[in-house]
Amino acid sequence: MAADPRFHADAESCPVCGSPNLQEIRCKVICLNCRTILQSGADLDGGALQG
Ligand SMILES: [Zn+2]
Repeated sequence: MAADPRFHADAESCPVCGSPNLQEIRCKVICLNCRTILQSGADLDGGALQG
């Protein structure tokens, strides 16, 4: 009944605010509650930012 210790990138709820409202955008998982990026794809690493 305790919280599962298996906390990986594929979290079902936001580890920051605990909200289950997660939105998967492209290769990222963003919390719709606190707007925190929980998971970022490798595509964002060293990528050029374009407006
Ligand atoms: Zn959150």
